[in-house]
Amino acid sequence: MDLQFLGGAREVGRSAILVNDRLLLDYGMLAGEPPQYPIDVPEPEAVVVGHGHLDHAGAVPALLSGDARPPIHWTPPTRELALTLARDTLKLHGGTLQCPFTETDVRRVTQVSETHGYEETFETAGHEVTFSNAGHIPGSAHVLVDDGDARLLYTGDFHTDDQRLVSGTTARPDADVIICESTYSDVDHEARSTVEERFVESVETTLWEGGTVVVPAFAIGRTQEMLLICEAYDIPCYVDGMGKGVTEMLLRYPEFVRDPTALRRAKSHARFVTGRNGQRERITDQPAAIVTTSGMLSGGPAMTYIPAIRSNPTNKITLTGYQVEGTPGRRLVETGSAEIDGRVLPVSAQVEQYDFSAHADRDGLRAFLDGYRDAEILVNHGDRCSAFAAELTADGFDASAPENGETVVVGE
Ligand SMILES: [Zn+2]
Repeated sequence: MDLQFLGGAREVGRSAILVNDRLLLDYGMLAGEPPQYPIDVPEPEAVVVGHGHLDHAGAVPALLSGDARPPIHWTPPTRELALTLARDTLKLHGGTLQCPFTETDVRRVTQVSETHGYEETFETAGHEVTFSNAGHIPGSAHVLVDDGDARLLYTGDFHTDDQRLVSGTTARPDADVIICESTYSDVDHEARSTVEERFVESVETTLWEGGTVVVPAFAIGRTQEMLLICEAYDIPCYVDGMGKGVTEMLLRYPEFVRDPTALRRAKSHARFVTGRNGQRERITDQPAAIVTTSGMLSGGPAMTYIPAIRSNPTNKITLTGYQVEGTPGRRLVETGSAEIDGRVLPVSAQVEQYDFSAHADRDGLRAFLDGYRDAEILVNHGDRCSAFAAELTADGFDASAPENGETVVVGE
C-alpha cells in the first residue's frame, strides 16, 4: 500500500492523503491569510472524507473543477457540514485566487456525494472502506481502508472521552497500519466535568452580578456543546452565527448525536439571535451568555458583541478552546486588548479560557494506540509529530512522522 502525504503531515490543517494513487482521504484547507491548500491537486478515482471541519473537508469542491467526477464518500452530517463550509468559503474568498473552487463545483459535490453510516462497509476505487465513530464531532469517522494486502486505519481527529454532544470512540478495528492524529500529544486535559464546573460557576457569578458573558465558540461541535451545558445548568443563553444553522442541521441526524433529546432541549432553551432591529446591541445589556462564532474572534457576530461589552469589568469573555497564534483571540489572552476591524481596543471585561477540547490528549492517544502495538504507526496532524513518533518508538512501537510530499510504502 502506497500512502502519499499531500497535507496535514507535521502540521495541523489541509489534511490530504492519497492511497495507492487512487483513493483520496480528506482534502482540507488551512484557514488563514491567505488560506493554504494541499501541496498537489490529485486526480483520485474516489474521495473519502473523515469529518466536516475545514482542515479536513474545506477544499473538496476543488476536486470537481476539471472533468473528473470522483464519488465523495462521507457520513450524512459530514456532507452537510462540508457544503456549509464550502458556501462560507465562497462568501469569504469566492472569485479570488484564494478560493480554488466555484459555486458550480460546490453544486457538483451534491451530485457525486455518497453517504454511509458507521460500520457499513462499502467498496470504492478498488478498496473496502468502513467508517466508525471517532467521537470528535457528529459524523466524524475513523476510516478503515482495505486494499486486499493491507488494512489502513486513518484515525482522523478523535476523542476517547465522552462529550455532551458525541460519545467517545470505542471502535478498535483490526489494522496493519495506523495514520494517527497527534494534536494534543503533549497535553493532559483537565477532566471534562471539572472544566465544565469551573466554566458554569464563572458564568453564573457574572450573570448574578448583572454582567453579560460572551462565549466565542466554533460553529461546528463547540457551539452545540456550549448550548447543551447552558441547558443542563439552566443558564439563560443566546446563540448567534453559523452555529445556529449547524444546530438545526444536526437535529436532522439524531443517530449521530449522543443524546438527541438533550440537543433538542438545548435548542429550545437557547434564544436564536436574528440580528434584526438592533437585537445584538440590546442583548449585550442582559445578564445572559451569548454563544457565538467565531471561536478565535476572527470574524462572525463576536465582532459586534466584544466592542459592546468590553468596557465593563463586570462582563466576561470566556474563550472555549485553544487560540491559534496570530488570531485575535490569542492576542486578547496575551495582551488584554482586542483587534476589531483593524482597531486595537482595550478590554476591561474579564477574559478567561477553557479547554473544551474535542481531541484525545496524551493519555487518550496512548490508550488508543495501545491496541495497535503490532501495527506500523504514522503520526500526522500535530505541531510535534516527530517528537511524538520518537516517544512511541522509545516505547517499542514502529512509528514515524512522514512529511508533506513524502510517499510511504506500508504493509509489505
Ligand atoms: Zn476536526
